[in-house]
Amino acid sequence: MDRCSFCGREKKDTNLLIAGISGHICDRCIEQAHTIVEEELGSSAEFDLGEIKLLKPKEINSFLDLYVIGQEEAKKYISVAVYNHYKRLMQSDTKDDVEIEKSNIILVGETGTGKTLMARTIAKMLHIPFTIVDATVLTEAGYVGEDIESVLSRLLQVADYNVEAAEKGIVFIDEIDKIARKGDNPSITRDVSGEGVQQGLLKLLEGSIVNVPPQGGRKHPDQKMIPVNTKNILFICGGAFDGIERKIANRLNTQVVGYTAVKETAAVDKDNLLQYIAPQDLKAFGLIPEIIGRLPVLTYLEPLNEEALRRILTEPKNAITKQYEKLFEMDGVTLTWDKKVLEYIVEKAVEFKLGARGLRSICEAIMIDVMFEMNSNSEKEVKIGIKYAKKQLEKTNLKRLRAA
Ligand code: ADP
Repeated sequence: MDRCSFCGREKKDTNLLIAGISGHICDRCIEQAHTIVEEELGSSAEFDLGEIKLLKPKEINSFLDLYVIGQEEAKKYISVAVYNHYKRLMQSDTKDDVEIEKSNIILVGETGTGKTLMARTIAKMLHIPFTIVDATVLTEAGYVGEDIESVLSRLLQVADYNVEAAEKGIVFIDEIDKIARKGDNPSITRDVSGEGVQQGLLKLLEGSIVNVPPQGGRKHPDQKMIPVNTKNILFICGGAFDGIERKIANRLNTQVVGYTAVKETAAVDKDNLLQYIAPQDLKAFGLIPEIIGRLPVLTYLEPLNEEALRRILTEPKNAITKQYEKLFEMDGVTLTWDKKVLEYIVEKAVEFKLGARGLRSICEAIMIDVMFEMNSNSEKEVKIGIKYAKKQLEKTNLKRLRAA
């Protein structure tokens, strides 16, 4: 009769009995052995906070500088928030009478200005679980779409189902503006992808124990839930909030009526109204006050001007031009760009309103033939000149790039 060679249980008393060359092992002994291995080798040490060197806000900021161009204001806020997040985590192990509350963040800025990039860069630097989720797929429980708890399922997956590690993680919720209430008045009809979702999210943001379906997606009645405490999870929300400038302008206008009006309006930079964003503008846009209250750090990203795009093209650690140079270098070819080509790329990105995302598509259009011909005439040097770049790009339908 087969029995476990470690504990002696018979096959019928186990859930699973695995055969080896000259013995067997049951599921319970596997679990136990796994725990011992973890304890001895520290296999979950990847997320061990004890190991982490606490970076100071300025150091976090310098790291962001390597990848993100401009956006100084947002970088400063994020650096401080992440630093404080770490400090709070360290404090949570000790009993202290001053409890530091977490400061969830909300980033407002046009699409393609670096919100996700900023979040990803932070993730690169951190050793705690981090995930990016899209608010648009979320719906109120019971409706088509994903339940709100699925936000935490992702975090659990990243943390390798180490609940303790997940409870100290960071979640980036993208497109938070898409769950804004559809009208200024609370609607009588159900608003399953708007206010209902906000109510659901509130539960996560404010810190509570949430039962999370391990696989995400929709709940199944027979699925075993994992309780996760969100008290220490840092939430960073991002959104474009299209049209919010109008709400800001309205507020600024109504505020400046009267004696000081002339002086104050003169100081308002009308081209970049986002810098004046305040919580009440988010409310006017359709976020419920409770959500706004749970996102106390509000900051903005600036629209990218020509100069910023030019820098994005060449300066970040993984800048697009550097990536092409690397690709060529792997074939033993030195790639260089005429300065005018770089200016031309930026000019076209601005002209066709392609933003930073468009820089890559334009480069791709210019480079496709050179890359296709690579090494067929064993050149050691390739220089991209302006005439060539123009010819290549004119062949391409730039309108198509816009959709990319
Ligand atoms: P969003 O604000 O919509 O989240 P992303 O962060 O996804 O925008 O930006 C899209 C791409 O544009 C990034 O992958 C990056 O290559 C480039 N990009 C955008 N903003 C910046 C920036 N400030 N610095 C460097 N690259 C940027």
